[in-house]
Amino acid sequence: MKINPLLDIVYPQSFLGEDEMANEQTLSIIKPDAVFTNHIGEILIRFEKSGLKIVAAKMVHFSQEQARAFYSVHAHRPFFQELVSFMISGPVLALVLEGENAVAKNRQLMGATNPKDANPGTIRADFAKTIEKNAIHGSDSLETAAKEIRFFFKAQEIFSR
Ligand code: ATP
Ligand code: MG
Repeated sequence: MKINPLLDIVYPQSFLGEDEMANEQTLSIIKPDAVFTNHIGEILIRFEKSGLKIVAAKMVHFSQEQARAFYSVHAHRPFFQELVSFMISGPVLALVLEGENAVAKNRQLMGATNPKDANPGTIRADFAKTIEKNAIHGSDSLETAAKEIRFFFKAQEIFSR
């Protein structure tokens, strides 16, 4: 973190020097099922306990169009329409997580796509019901993370530190 004492401004990541850059940022979405079952707080605690920082957060209710766009890589999959219906069934919490190996660390905390296969103690093992209603989304690579973060957040809405 770098603070300008004159202006009292915390510079976003893009203004930090190479050596001071936080390692990675990734996008997480707490999906409608976990919002409905009131597990937002417990999930956020897991991120923070793992050392990841929550550097942006926003609750949104996807429109059909937004959900289709967000999951466009799955447009050809048989479960696409059901997935879109699920994702628009209620609000979600979109987050940017930051830290060392944030992409992989987040995927580890989430557990396997199907909660039945998820390791004990992972978010999906503890809070998800089915392969579709699986509590959480996490970017699967740095490249995807950059795209997905831009989908939800403007640069000035991300508070890297
Ligand atoms: P996410 O992209 O949400 O982080 P993931 O990378 O573990 O999850 P993907 O293969 O990218 O899994 O699938 C995206 C989402 O589509 C899953 O999280 C789940 O909600 C849904 N999904 C995946 N496979 C199935 C399936 N066989 N049947 C129903 N829904 C599925
Ligand atoms: Mg995925």
